[in-house]
Amino acid sequence: MECMRTVGSLLVALLLSVPAAAQRGGIDIKDYLFSITIPDSGNAIRGHTNLHFERRVPEDSVLTLDLVGMTVDSVQVLGVPHEASRRFTYDGRMLRIPLQATHEPGLNVVIWYHGSPQDGLIIGPNARGQRVAFADNWPERARFWLPVVDHPSDKATTVFSIEAPTAWRVVANGMPVPAPGGLRASIEVHPIPAYTMVIGAAKFAVSRHRPVINGRDTIPIQVWTYPEDSAFADSVPFRRATEIVEAMQRLIGPFPYEKLAHVQSSTKFGGMENSSAIFYAEKPYVERKMGEGVVRHETAHQWFGDAVTERDWPDIWLSEGFATYFDGAIGAALDGDTVLVNSMRSNAEAYFKSDVTDRPIVDSGYAADPIKLLNANSYPKGAWVLHMLRGTIGDSAFFRGLRRYYRTYRDSTATSEDFQRVIEKEARADLGWFFHQWLYQPGYPQLGVTWHYDAGAGKVLLGITQRQKPEWGLFRLPHLTLEFRGANGAKVRREVAIRGDSRETTARVDLPFAPTEVRMDPDGKLLLQVTIGRR
Ligand SMILES: [Zn+2]
Repeated sequence: MECMRTVGSLLVALLLSVPAAAQRGGIDIKDYLFSITIPDSGNAIRGHTNLHFERRVPEDSVLTLDLVGMTVDSVQVLGVPHEASRRFTYDGRMLRIPLQATHEPGLNVVIWYHGSPQDGLIIGPNARGQRVAFADNWPERARFWLPVVDHPSDKATTVFSIEAPTAWRVVANGMPVPAPGGLRASIEVHPIPAYTMVIGAAKFAVSRHRPVINGRDTIPIQVWTYPEDSAFADSVPFRRATEIVEAMQRLIGPFPYEKLAHVQSSTKFGGMENSSAIFYAEKPYVERKMGEGVVRHETAHQWFGDAVTERDWPDIWLSEGFATYFDGAIGAALDGDTVLVNSMRSNAEAYFKSDVTDRPIVDSGYAADPIKLLNANSYPKGAWVLHMLRGTIGDSAFFRGLRRYYRTYRDSTATSEDFQRVIEKEARADLGWFFHQWLYQPGYPQLGVTWHYDAGAGKVLLGITQRQKPEWGLFRLPHLTLEFRGANGAKVRREVAIRGDSRETTARVDLPFAPTEVRMDPDGKLLLQVTIGRR
């Protein structure tokens, strides 16, 4: 049974919200009610937004909202019965609404506006030549059609109430709710970042897959396609849409939202993890060329990125690195470990040949231009941080830590330090060295290894040099596995520790036979490159 709410309980739901980090002058937006009219032709929209916010200190201040290129018709601060309630300034980029000390700590503001969005809400023909409207907000494009605090640190609940051509169907965050006069409304009771707030309006076919049942909660799993592409909804990428959610639930915890829709759209990204309504590029549907990997990646984002959101852009690996890792980890849960092994190998290759190896993962240099953070540090190297963390602390502590991190920061925001703190607690270990070298140092270890077998002593003598650029720094690898192979199929593994305070490491390991071959890190547990030679 689908969870339906009445309009009456809509206001109640609006007032229920989880504390999230406040920003911009101590103002924390709690709930948005966005009403948008999409026209039958042209792309001029009309909107009014009713938002509820709280102030840490109810003194004279200014509510500053991002809104680009619209015309603001009027503003009203509710419950303030005089001229002052209607004051605002708007310079085409920022809407500033003065608030008085006498105002309550929590207030509602209504904004009426109209205009043709330059970006963010794209109205026009789709790949099938049909008129459609799709939001595409990442990273800071919600501001082109919605008055919002357009930053991931200020999450809020949403209600979208959409007036659209009658033949269209509308998908948005959360669950549909009854609305008067032909409006299509949808409510998301969990706070979400502005970059995952979404609507899609078009002629759609909806395929209903087996729902996920969590006790008394039923989570609908749907695939929304253009009518011309409806057969693709039951094809390869979505065949296991339900199993993918169930695998993530077993690995991490309950699915965070009320439903999950996979939507064919005109997003400019291959896939966009909008909370509870993932948008995919339309062309792969038209060409029938999509794989399951993107569905696993975007589904994993519902937990990491959407429910637990990076508090600021430099920590975006908490979103993209996690989704990249769980693409492989879900694949391993469904089809065996080879999927993860292969995915980590291609992640390593993608990172090695990228142009960001001289920059660290947590990269404040790109904070003003988040699109540049969609790079091989945030995705494949971020996935490698998780993979190596798992190798360092073991499966049990790793998954306990991830589950606790999800429980603690669900519907809120987190930083890399928050993640480190939770993991250290579960692993009962100081992992400062690990997070420092992999998140804040650039590069990766490039090891030069020479070896010599001392037959008399029955030992292999190893010399290991960290040959990477000095600017990358040194790496500590406390559990580096070596595999020695002998002439007649003998195979023995030994572990050596590479210290992070010296470029050179020497080691002597007992070995009962003369090796013909030495392999480093045979199971691919570390992000490194090695050259090996006999001395
Ligand atoms: Zn992603």
